[in-house]
Amino acid sequence: MSRGSRRERQRVRILARDEYRCVYCGRTLPPEELTLDHVEPQVKGGDWSEGNLVTACQPCNAEKADSAAWVYLADRPTTRARFLRLATAVWPRLRRAVEEAANPEPPPES
Ligand SMILES: [Zn+2]
Repeated sequence: MSRGSRRERQRVRILARDEYRCVYCGRTLPPEELTLDHVEPQVKGGDWSEGNLVTACQPCNAEKADSAAWVYLADRPTTRARFLRLATAVWPRLRRAVEEAANPEPPPES
């Protein structure tokens, strides 16, 4: 009988997938200092699929809080570029949301 819940095993798998690196600040940390972050937050309907989960350090996760990643990253160009470089396992739909939130349609010419 294995110890640890399904969630804990999933956490271990995602941290390993992301090489124990926070996708927001890029720091590599020991597993106990890392958390799982929902790219699309649970309060907005995000699920526990592995394409919706990324590794985040505690300070970044606390700062992002319940924001969607694309909202959090919209005015943080450096962090956004790092996220797009590191979070390669995120669903393409969610990566697109991050890219598009940062590049709003230009205003129509008058
Ligand atoms: Zn971080």
